[in-house]
This record gives sequence, structure tokens and C-alpha cells, in this order.
Amino acid sequence: MSNTTYPWPGKARLALSVVVNVEELSEYSIGEGDKITEPVDELNVSLHKPIRNYGNESNYRYGINEGHARVAALLDKYQVAATYTAAALSLERADSVTSYLRGSRHEVCSHGYRWIHQFRLGPDAERRFIRDAADSIEKTTGRRPVGWLSRYLHTADTRRLLQEEGFLYHMDDYSADAPFWGQVDGSDQPMVIVPYQLDTNDMKMWLAPSYLPSHWLEYAIDSFDTLYAEGAHAPRMMSLGLHLRIIGRPGRIGAFEKFLAYVAQKPDVWYATRRGIAEHFAAQVAR
Ligand SMILES: [Zn+2]
Repeated sequence: MSNTTYPWPGKARLALSVVVNVEELSEYSIGEGDKITEPVDELNVSLHKPIRNYGNESNYRYGINEGHARVAALLDKYQVAATYTAAALSLERADSVTSYLRGSRHEVCSHGYRWIHQFRLGPDAERRFIRDAADSIEKTTGRRPVGWLSRYLHTADTRRLLQEEGFLYHMDDYSADAPFWGQVDGSDQPMVIVPYQLDTNDMKMWLAPSYLPSHWLEYAIDSFDTLYAEGAHAPRMMSLGLHLRIIGRPGRIGAFEKFLAYVAQKPDVWYATRRGIAEHFAAQVAR
């Protein structure tokens, strides 16, 4: 645990960052003219030939058609301010999500222009990808994103490009339970890193070997309890990564509600956007 100590706003014990991924309608698709089929598939159907996977496409659409309304209802019921990590194209296509986000308490963080393999882009194309995503999200939601999440893999240039494009924080990091100043290759200025978590991600209920919702809930609550206890002595944050097509299914959404109901009994939890965490950290801790 890092020695850097400072209070969260309102002297909160823990900053809880609920992360709602919106990537549906922007994934790889032969129907969109892509050369590959979306490799992330609930049934693990990995096609090495360019065959259209209608089943997976429609399984993604479920997130927009049905999942988002369930997730949004719980965020509203428990008054959670979340960070939506959104692929820009998804917001261009999913009016129901975009109109919910416009003017809301939630933050929209860029998850790329599309949910594609950013690490295959050269630096010029990657810069364009970053800029196009920010331009599009500003247009659809009315606010320019200040944070970035790649589709897991990114390049040695990504962080410097984000800094040059005016981004405040980067979340492609899993190395800590608190924000920190991270080195930027090719720059003499650091950048705020707001680390993410894979272990509590609802993806664990989608891909084999998958957790049951009850396992996922237990794991999330145990993570919360540990970080909440440690938060008495040092700044701690927890990330809970969700996907509309995953947690938004009727058999899984209840686990999210049980988690929120558990947290609601605990005093001094800051339902923080990642932007809020990054801004607070940057104001408290010298680079
Ligand atoms: Zn994602």
C-alpha cells in the first residue's frame, strides 16, 4: 500500500467507482465490413474465418435493448454516480443510453471510437482514433471525455497521445487500489492513473470458467469489506466493472442490487466518478 495519504471528499472511507461499459453495437462484425468476427463471445465461439456471427451480434444488442434500463434503474434507486466507459459509436447508435446520460450525474469516459483492437493502429491512426472518440462523445453527450479505457491492450504511445490530446486520466492499469501519478513514455510530465479491476468485473460471469452471480456478489462484497477497512488508514478505491449485456440479464441484475443494498448500509462511502477521483487526487498530491 502506498504511503501517500490525503482525505477523500467528506472524509469518506472508500471511493466506490461503478464502471458501466457500453461497447455494444461497436464491436467487430462482418456485417459492418470488418475482416474478423467479434472474438469475445459468451459461448466462446471463436471463428477464424470471416463468417458472420448473427447470434453473437444479437447477444450484444441485448445490452442496449434490455440491459441498460435495468442497470440505470438501480443506479437511480441507489443514487450512484457512475462512470460510463463508452465506445463512441455505441452512443451514436443507442439513443436510449445517450439520452439517459445527457445532463445526468454520471461521467462518460472514452472506451475508444469503436470497441476494436487499438493496439494494431500506428501512432497517427491511434491519435485519430482518440480524437474521433472524444469529438463524437462530446457531440452525443454534450461533454468531452477526460478519461480513457482501451480494449485491454494498448500501445507504448497511448498514454502520451492521451496527454497530448488533453486527457486528465488513464485507466488501463491494474496495479493499485488508489490513484497515482504514472510515468508517460516520451513525456516529462506524469499523468493521473485511476486503476481498474478485472477480478470484480461482471465479465467473470460471461466467459468460462464463469462465476455464478452469487460467487460474483460474494467476491465483490469481500473486496468492498477489505478496502473499506483499509480505508480507515489510507485512501482506497474500489472499481466494479459492469457490462449492459452481462449484468443486465434478469438472472444477474439481482446480484448488482444486493451489492448496492449492502454498500448502502455502510456510512462514508463516496460513490465517485473516476473524473472526480482523478481531479481530487491531482489537487491533493504533488506530481
Ligand atoms: Zn470494455
